[in-house]
Amino acid sequence: MFDKAFCLRGIYTFLALLASLAGSGCSVNPATGQRQLTLIGEAQEIEIGRQNDVQIVDQMGLYGDPELQSYLQDLGSRLAAKSERPDLPWTFRLVDDPVVNAFALPGGYVYITRGILAHFNSEAELVSVLGHEIGHVTGRHGVERMSKAQLAQIGLGVAAVASEDFRPFAGMAQQGLSLLFLKFSRDDERQADDLGLRYLVAGDYAADEMPKVFTTLDRMSASQGGRVPGWLATHPPPANRAQRLSEVIAGLPPDQRQGQVNRETYLGRLDGVSFGVNPREGYTVGNTFYHPDLAFALDFPQGWQVVNQKQAVGAVSPEEDAIVVLTLAEKNSPDEVVQSFFQQDGVQRGDRWRDDFYYFRAAPGGQNGAQGPEYVGLVGAVQHRGQLFRLLSYTLDDRWDGRGRPMQDAVASFRTVTDRRYLDVQSKKVDIVTLKKPMTLKQFHSQYPSTIELEPLAILNGVSVSETLPRGHRVKRVSGGELPDS
Ligand SMILES: [Zn+2]
Repeated sequence: MFDKAFCLRGIYTFLALLASLAGSGCSVNPATGQRQLTLIGEAQEIEIGRQNDVQIVDQMGLYGDPELQSYLQDLGSRLAAKSERPDLPWTFRLVDDPVVNAFALPGGYVYITRGILAHFNSEAELVSVLGHEIGHVTGRHGVERMSKAQLAQIGLGVAAVASEDFRPFAGMAQQGLSLLFLKFSRDDERQADDLGLRYLVAGDYAADEMPKVFTTLDRMSASQGGRVPGWLATHPPPANRAQRLSEVIAGLPPDQRQGQVNRETYLGRLDGVSFGVNPREGYTVGNTFYHPDLAFALDFPQGWQVVNQKQAVGAVSPEEDAIVVLTLAEKNSPDEVVQSFFQQDGVQRGDRWRDDFYYFRAAPGGQNGAQGPEYVGLVGAVQHRGQLFRLLSYTLDDRWDGRGRPMQDAVASFRTVTDRRYLDVQSKKVDIVTLKKPMTLKQFHSQYPSTIELEPLAILNGVSVSETLPRGHRVKRVSGGELPDS
């Protein structure tokens, strides 16, 4: 769900950025040897990273395993020390996100999701991706993008503040962090791959492990029919990269191609790591959303797309013309929640519907002063176990006839859950099993069943379903995480 506070902070960041665009110049980048137009000095670069890091941690959350966090920080720091910018405040974080992704911010902030961590099959593969992200920082790709593009976006950002409650319906389905995920060019990506390979070799890791990461990403992409979240959405097709990298690596001296792989110790670290979407943060059965930690349920209209994020959950109609969204309200009373909503420009209070819910009409204004769309909807607050939630639902003003009823039903369906079957769900976990005799993954899957399908399990293990794995081989199995039936 969307987070208003984030939006505001994002704008402050860009205003700070604007203010910082005083000194500019053209300099030679030590990592790439290329001349770069840079409007942002190193101190500002670090400050941009630091500010956005606060938001990332806030929005995505860190994975709650201090041992894995310090492992990542140690590994990343050792690698970054061999880069051309060893003195940045290098910070490596494992974020609590099931999506397979890795990204970097200017100033030396690098993030790995637990989703991608689970998919690596050796430390060398992890180091490959850390190296790639370090390459984006040393190549100053993010800063360069900002220098070129961010000024133009500041105007749009201000307009977004004016209508923060009324984003386009389609925007609901997108990650709130999209502002931060600068898309790099193919040249930037190629350069980050090359720099990553350089750091991998400098760290005495086996270069031959690097293309395997892209092979895994490629298999994921193929298995998802090209519908690709995370890393894959912002990076060029992995197959080309695996091939190009393999060619580059083939040209390296043999001693550089060999080196540390650290497969067994890496897999040991993965034992017990959460896998997939964590149902403790909410899950759907049919179109009912359950939040086990907060012990509530909500029935969204049939066929609507449910989007669950850290501070909110919502659903969008298939035609993207209506929305229902529940947020935690940081107010003292239902009345305050409603009052603050009606204090927004262009929002007109209507009749009371029931309890603390009211109809409203809103014409929040479009960008650059243009007239935006008109909405009609319902807003109100519910108290639940000492917490206050705001429920907001709206549609385009000429769609109320068809949409109003399902919207009202959804809002009215908010209820407390006491059934332990719904409250006791747990996350899936990665278990590491050491084979006592040779077998194929298919045989493994029937002997040690996973709670994911065979094909994704094969991708997770970086093997095919039919190849025979030797005795002593460590295999990832995914267990737990079953959801109750409706
Ligand atoms: Zn990249």
